[in-house]
Amino acid sequence: SSTGRGEKERTLGIIKPDGLSGNYTNRIKQVILESGFEISKEIVIQLDEQDAANFYAEHSSKIFFTDLIRYMTSGPVLVMILEKEDGVAHWRNLIGPTDAGKAKITHPHSIRAMCGIDLEKNCIHGSDSHQSAEREIAFFFKEAPLDEAVRKHDEL
Ligand code: ADP
Ligand code: MG
Repeated sequence: SSTGRGEKERTLGIIKPDGLSGNYTNRIKQVILESGFEISKEIVIQLDEQDAANFYAEHSSKIFFTDLIRYMTSGPVLVMILEKEDGVAHWRNLIGPTDAGKAKITHPHSIRAMCGIDLEKNCIHGSDSHQSAEREIAFFFKEAPLDEAVRKHDEL
């Protein structure tokens, strides 16, 4: 959802193992910057099974969960905090639909069309809401979620 009033909204992007090992990083960053995002923080990290399972906890009961954890731990990932007005929605638009195979046909200019392969190996992650973005940013960057920090400040 939009933050309004021209304020920037943070979201989380992850170049998944296939994107990183396929050397798409520079092309992806070029698209990000040309689309008006600022990359305010980034880290390269190797997730272990517990990390990946925690990050994707919402999918723990899905049949693809085991494969997803194997995929996300198959090599390092590049995690980025991205900022832009209405950043969450803009970033989801830019990465394209989950199925990268379909994205090549329906969203040929999307990042998943550029570097993904199929429904699983889609090379990039984007937070699906403002709330998810803050939870995911806190997961990787160990900060208090913004809303919580604001609430604490207001209570002082
Ligand atoms: P998105 O990443 O577009 O928000 P989901 O949250 O539904 O998609 O799924 C998380 C990730 O799990 C996807 O990006 C993809 O890598 C993988 N995934 C989703 N659905 C499937 C599926 N049906 N089969 C295999 N992998 C899947
Ligand atoms: Mg999702």
